[in-house]
Amino acid sequence: MSPLRVRVDTDLCVGHGRCYTLAPEVYDADEYGHCVIPETRVPPEHETQARVGAENCPEDAITVVEE
Ligand code: SF4
Repeated sequence: MSPLRVRVDTDLCVGHGRCYTLAPEVYDADEYGHCVIPETRVPPEHETQARVGAENCPEDAITVVEE
């Protein structure tokens, strides 16, 4: 399976926190509660969490790309 990459559009993210609450393995928060992604390349064992976080973002701010 191809590796995944995730990215967050910081213009769209308003800091609901659903991504890092549901998938803290992939997503983290900055001091304002906005999403930051410490490592954009997702290891295979965290692919499900990466997709869950993206699918649950109310702003569609997270993109999951298969490389
Ligand atoms: S769920 Fe979406 S809007 Fe909320 S912090 Fe995560 S990326 Fe930002």
